[in-house]
Amino acid sequence: MPGQGQSPSGLDPRAVESLLAFWAEAGVDICSEDAPVDRLAERVRPIRAPAAPTPSVQSAHGPDVSGALVEARRLAGEAKDLTELAAAIAAFDGCGLKFEGARQAVFSRGASDAPVMVIGEAPGSEEDQQGAPFVGRAGKLLDKMLAAAGLEGRVFITNTVYWRPSGNRTPSPQEQLVCSPFLERTIELVAPKFLLLAGGASAKSLLQRPEGILSLRGRWFDWRSADESLSVPALPTLHPAFLLRQPAAKKKAWADLLTLTERLDRPERPG
Ligand code: URA
Repeated sequence: MPGQGQSPSGLDPRAVESLLAFWAEAGVDICSEDAPVDRLAERVRPIRAPAAPTPSVQSAHGPDVSGALVEARRLAGEAKDLTELAAAIAAFDGCGLKFEGARQAVFSRGASDAPVMVIGEAPGSEEDQQGAPFVGRAGKLLDKMLAAAGLEGRVFITNTVYWRPSGNRTPSPQEQLVCSPFLERTIELVAPKFLLLAGGASAKSLLQRPEGILSLRGRWFDWRSADESLSVPALPTLHPAFLLRQPAAKKKAWADLLTLTERLDRPERPG
């Protein structure tokens, strides 16, 4: 006989509820597959050789993403405007994040001719549900800060990857790399004057620099496209999710936003 407060399975429903709440808070709020996956059995599956040889794009530990990168470049290059680009991203199957349980591709929000492009890390849970970047708690803080700095309505917002990583983990350099042709094409189509790189994962990926965000923030760098045909001044800053955890750091991010608006609105002034 199950005791009071116990389900027939013997589990205390309150304990299960609080465990689920704990997981949800940690970012584990969906089942990614209907059926269990035996990851150990997967390991011994034979690896098929690629159909056609492509130059290998591989980090010391990561998987080869050459084929996916070629496909992303083709799809991004064919997109004539942001609507076509959004459709190309949604149709792209080359980024593993798409198959980790994300509900949909999250591309962008904001003005398509904005002078500033904000590039974050990856969609979170709220973004995954709503299909737009920075719409959760961190996004609300970002919007408030942008408005206070005089940037309301003057930004286009996107991320380095378009699907929510499971458990809100940081996207891997390979995941960012396969998505990079779409981001490059976005920058080309919007043609912003400046990039604001929100957080270390965005700054590292776009600038390919080894320093941490606390050293990069507040300094101007030149972002360049892979073929070096495009170049846009880029300013790394602290991620709003970090600011929610460390409110004392807000003054640093605020100083970064003022640096940006100063250059945007008073370009004649020496930096
Ligand atoms: N954090 C990001 O980096 N991007 C989002 O879209 C939301 C949260």
